[in-house]
Amino acid sequence: MEDYILRATAAEGAVRAFAAVSRNTVETARQLHNTSPVATAALGRLLTAAAMIGSTLKSDSDLVTLQIKGDGPLQGIIATSDSSSRVKGYAFNPETPFAEKYPGKLDVGSAVGKGTLTVIKDIGLKEPYSGQIELVSGEIAEDLSYYYAKSEQTPSAIGLGVLIETDETVRQAGGFMIQLMPGAPEEVVDKLENKLNSMPYVTDLLDMGKMPEDILEMILGGMDLSVTDKMPMKFYCNCTRERVEKALVSIGKSELEKIINEDQKADVKCHFCSKEYHFDKSQLKNIYNKAIER
Ligand code: ZN
Repeated sequence: MEDYILRATAAEGAVRAFAAVSRNTVETARQLHNTSPVATAALGRLLTAAAMIGSTLKSDSDLVTLQIKGDGPLQGIIATSDSSSRVKGYAFNPETPFAEKYPGKLDVGSAVGKGTLTVIKDIGLKEPYSGQIELVSGEIAEDLSYYYAKSEQTPSAIGLGVLIETDETVRQAGGFMIQLMPGAPEEVVDKLENKLNSMPYVTDLLDMGKMPEDILEMILGGMDLSVTDKMPMKFYCNCTRERVEKALVSIGKSELEKIINEDQKADVKCHFCSKEYHFDKSQLKNIYNKAIER
């Protein structure tokens, strides 16, 4: 089954909602980065959130990046999505050792530690918009909810989950995001709170075979729920040899000269998808000449 995101409204537009199933995307990320279970869980949660937020972007060239930096063993994670919910991302320390909160529940919060969450939206303005908060728990969903309340004045209930098999592959992944629009009536807020308080974990719902449709129905059923969009979600990196060359040109003459003389080659790995680009000495000399011309 392909990954996808549902977008919906409810309560006569007072509620905006998203739900995603992201198992393939997260499994692809795991394979590309060879992440440990706790790193897979953390990265998978952030990728799923990025894809849901990405689906709200207007233009094809718009991008949203979620960046978490923490003092825990994971060090940090980054996820970027375009407006078609094509996501890419990586964990700073993919080999973060196994940590459980209790049997069967990975301790993402401890792996992340204390730190910050930064949301960067590049929507074609001169400067990308960016907002930052201190992490609340490092569990990611909670941190994002706090970000929305504080930086965007949008009360949000967010659930994100990644369930890992004993062989470390991804068994389930997905999430939901429910947001209150300005002026949402008190009774809608109360009703939502009641529903959300009795919601099982996202991973449990997915493992019971619940789909994004079911999750939205569980939360917003009876509240004039209307699904407005169904969009595919996938892991996608737009790196190319040309882009890597440009990056090499930008490191400057003296640094390039050093690489040419000392290493006689360069192997550049894309952070986002782990693809390797190899440059031999003559290719590096061409790049060096371009750096001189600048
Ligand atoms: Zn790449």
